[in-house]
Amino acid sequence: MTVWQEVVDQEEAVNQLQLAVKDVAKAKTNTASAAFTQTWLITGPPGSGRSTAARAFAAAIQCEQGGCGECKSCKQILNSSHQDVIVIAPTGLTIGVDEARELIGKAYLEPSIGNWQVFIIEDADRLTAPAANALLKILEEPPTRTFFLLCAPAAEDVLPTIRSRCRHLGLRLPRTSQVAKLLVDRNGIEPELANFVAKAALGHVGVAKALATNSAARLRREQTLQIPLLLDSLPSCFVQAQNLYDAILESVEAAQDDKDDSEQNELLNAFGAGTEGVKKSRVEFLARAAMKELKDDQKSQRTRAIRDQLDRSLQDLLSFYRDVLFVQLGVEVELINDELRAPIQRLAQRATPVATRKALDAIQESRAAISASANPLLVLESLLINLARAA
Ligand SMILES: [Zn+2]
Repeated sequence: MTVWQEVVDQEEAVNQLQLAVKDVAKAKTNTASAAFTQTWLITGPPGSGRSTAARAFAAAIQCEQGGCGECKSCKQILNSSHQDVIVIAPTGLTIGVDEARELIGKAYLEPSIGNWQVFIIEDADRLTAPAANALLKILEEPPTRTFFLLCAPAAEDVLPTIRSRCRHLGLRLPRTSQVAKLLVDRNGIEPELANFVAKAALGHVGVAKALATNSAARLRREQTLQIPLLLDSLPSCFVQAQNLYDAILESVEAAQDDKDDSEQNELLNAFGAGTEGVKKSRVEFLARAAMKELKDDQKSQRTRAIRDQLDRSLQDLLSFYRDVLFVQLGVEVELINDELRAPIQRLAQRATPVATRKALDAIQESRAAISASANPLLVLESLLINLARAA
């Protein structure tokens, strides 16, 4: 295998990165003639594999064989445990100026085991303006052995001043056939299930993997797609909104509770918990500032996880109404939710294409509201009322 195998259906982008890797390799032997870019902006819609591409590139730069995927360095980078490849992923809704300054401090150090130091900034669109401004200088003139790989949904999502300092690499949403192939080849998923989830995930590799390997995620998708059929009265809109919100909350809590507890215990241990002769109250007193910071962090992680999962459900609803619209317009395409063809046809007969378009707009507006930090339950309630009216 090579490090590029996980970068699904991105031939052109991979070609560009491989050429860049060759330039970097030349620099190891003859720095004078080497010309290569150290700051990159990797963009693509969610699911296109921005951070996967960034990791593959980082591994290929560090690897003696240009990204074999087999050596210790490649393996460490792909599973995020390499000392010289540092991934900055926002735990909360933004990346602030403190995190940016910490990164700058590290960036001026020499690589510890590899030839280069690579910083991967996931969701660079979440950099606050002060954080972005703090980074301008180092992106303009990066330290000799340092790379910055910024990832964002679209180039317009980062400040023009950041954008202009980076080489841009665009990724596309992979074709569902290629996503299904990856699931079969790399995750051993049955072809039929792989095809189904790749289509349901609309080409989003991570979502497809989650659907393929997590039956609870598949069940929630199924339940979400029933919602349009259950909105026959105002009270039912409220009930369905609450049910979906509760299901999302439950799944986020199940994923976070254990992790939060063990992080908190780890912190207390660092302050001497469990050491003989050290009182518990003393440990708690000493750790209180750090504990508050950790708990705030964990809280914003939850908020973000809830928003992400809700957005996923809204995308499922979008796919449903898109199918309804295609049936209404008589467009001969394969439905995304072909298993629901009968109810989709029923709904298509009951409403007009204009009403279905309104439903699609309402869902998109709700997604925008959620990403702008509106109250998720209120957004859901108002959406379902709008969807009921559209039917
Ligand atoms: Zn390697």
